[in-house]
Amino acid sequence: MIGNFYICATPIGNLGDITLRTVETLKQVDYIACEDTRITGILTEKYEIKAKLLDCHKFNEKERSCKIITLLNEGYNVGFVSDAGTPLISDPGSFLIEELLKNNIKITSLPGACAVTTFLSLLPRKTEEYAFIGFIPRNPKQQILILNKYKGTNCIFYESPLRLIKTLKNIQDEYGTDTKISVGRELTKLFEEVKTGFASDIIEYYNNHPLKGEIVVMIYAHEEENTCGNDLMQKISVLKEEGYSTKDIAKILSLLFNANKNDIYKLAK
Ligand code: SAM
Repeated sequence: MIGNFYICATPIGNLGDITLRTVETLKQVDYIACEDTRITGILTEKYEIKAKLLDCHKFNEKERSCKIITLLNEGYNVGFVSDAGTPLISDPGSFLIEELLKNNIKITSLPGACAVTTFLSLLPRKTEEYAFIGFIPRNPKQQILILNKYKGTNCIFYESPLRLIKTLKNIQDEYGTDTKISVGRELTKLFEEVKTGFASDIIEYYNNHPLKGEIVVMIYAHEEENTCGNDLMQKISVLKEEGYSTKDIAKILSLLFNANKNDIYKLAK
């Protein structure tokens, strides 16, 4: 019998943020593949989890994938965790998952804490539309490219506290000084805070307050850019009611919104 493989979300700061199902599963598996055995060791000690820890990080993932597949084929059950939050969300594991799928091994994901979702649920948003881009690139040119790619969309990313101020200045330069931003810091931990304002407000705030710990950022699309999608959908439905064909709707609205005809066709279908 092939063993079971479980992807397990772990806390992003507060050790209590782990599900009952995850604790029970980690108590039952034979091995836990983890990024850093010292970090996962804190969790296994707290919850009296006895499984053997197997380090599996971005530098040994290929070699470890073979080992994990061998263990599963021998019938051992394996849990997979990252240092914090949901594995594979800006964390290693994608090579391993591909290999498991190639080997027809069933993967079960146990949901739980994640910095993006924790942050999003704390924010005042008018829409569910947003893009998560993982860690924003460090390289200034790549950063500007990606900022331009997502202009007009609520955009959420991970960033280091060491680079936050520089990145906020770039956002200000690319998106304008009237761009609203939220910064979440140390979520679920003792010094958790969420600051919302223009980039200049946040830069000023962190010039006077310690900027340490873990950071997640949201750039809000400008109101007029954000409402563009709603406006488009409204116009599609008005033209449909008037009896226009999908092809004609795509043609008219692509001219009006300066948008791709095929994209509008898909929305109007
Ligand atoms: N897998 C994790 C998840 O589910 O969110 C993310 C791992 S990624 C390597 C680590 C980054 O996530 C940090 O550098 C920070 O940007 C963000 N992050 C993790 N924990 C956080 C927290 N408690 N508060 C704010 N951001 C956090």
